[in-house]
Formats: sequence, C-alpha cells, structure tokens
Amino acid sequence: MSEIVNHKHTVDEVLDLYRKGGDEQYFGEAISQTEHALQSAWLAEKAGASPVIIGAALLHDVGHLLHGMGEDIAEEDIDAKHEAVGAAYLAQRFNTELVAAVSLHVLAKRYLVGTDPSYAANLSPASVHSLELQGGPMGAEEAAEFAKKKAATGAVALRRWDDEAKVVGLKTPSLDHFRPYLEASLRR
Ligand code: FE
Repeated sequence: MSEIVNHKHTVDEVLDLYRKGGDEQYFGEAISQTEHALQSAWLAEKAGASPVIIGAALLHDVGHLLHGMGEDIAEEDIDAKHEAVGAAYLAQRFNTELVAAVSLHVLAKRYLVGTDPSYAANLSPASVHSLELQGGPMGAEEAAEFAKKKAATGAVALRRWDDEAKVVGLKTPSLDHFRPYLEASLRR
C-alpha cells in the first residue's frame, strides 16, 4: 500500500515541475517547455514506442526545469548540461532504461549530425547554436562507439521526436494522459 502511495507521489512530483515551471519558453523556440515535452511524448506514442521510451520523451528536458538558470542560458553561450542534470534527478525515481535514453539524447544529436546529412540540414537555428556548445558533430569513430550502446536506439529515436516537437499551437493530450507511461517506468 505505502509503495503505491509513494509511486503516485513520485509521478505527481515530476508532473508538477511541468505544471508549475513548464511555462518557460523552450530555448530559442516559440513554444513552452511543457508543450515541447507533450509533443515529444505524443510523437513517441504515435510511433508505437515502448512505455519507457514514451516516458523518456516526456521527461527528456526535465533538467531545464531543475537547474534554475533561467531561460536565456543558450543565448549566453553556457552549456548547462541539462541532460546530466535531468538524468541525475530521474535516476532516483525511474528505471535505468528511461534514464539512459534521457542522458544520451544530446549525444544522439551529435551522432545524427555526424552520420545523417539530411538530419543536420533540418536542425532549427537554436539547435545548431546549442550543437556547437555541446561539442559539434561526432566523428566516425565516436559515432561507431555510440551506436554500440544499449540505449542508443531509443536515444536516437527520442532525439528525432525532440527535434520535431516544436510546433506552435499544436493540440496534444494532457500530462495526465502520459501518467501510465511514467508509472510503468518507475524504479523498482
Ligand atoms: Fe528537447
């Protein structure tokens, strides 16, 4: 019984970050953090992703809601390492598959830019700018190493939804719609 209560509490605590702080603009884009999270998760759901990867898509930028550096960090040329901040927070609450997909989603961007020219051509200006702060495209050797990681496939898929999830005014399901995916991904 108490475990169920705790799990409910954990999911509420995480969703509250999006309810309270998620109105901040998604860096350099015209939508909010919460809209971006919902669009990412919805794309994952429509693509038939596993519950854990849908949960990861919803929470992939949670680090931006945690680090308290305000919304202008990319413009100030500071890389806040939001994927590491987010993964550390999530690791206390969710399973390793979800945490790994979140922690690798920035590397997945460097991987895709290094291996898929059509991907690079479609990045938004804000995303091109942050890529430089994140270390630029992967070389062939680094890309081959990255592809061997167990979580690479999920992280790369998540990354592609992440990049698409910037549509101004798009209607999506609510945060509560995605709650079961988070419940299914809790740390046991
Ligand atoms: Fe994102």
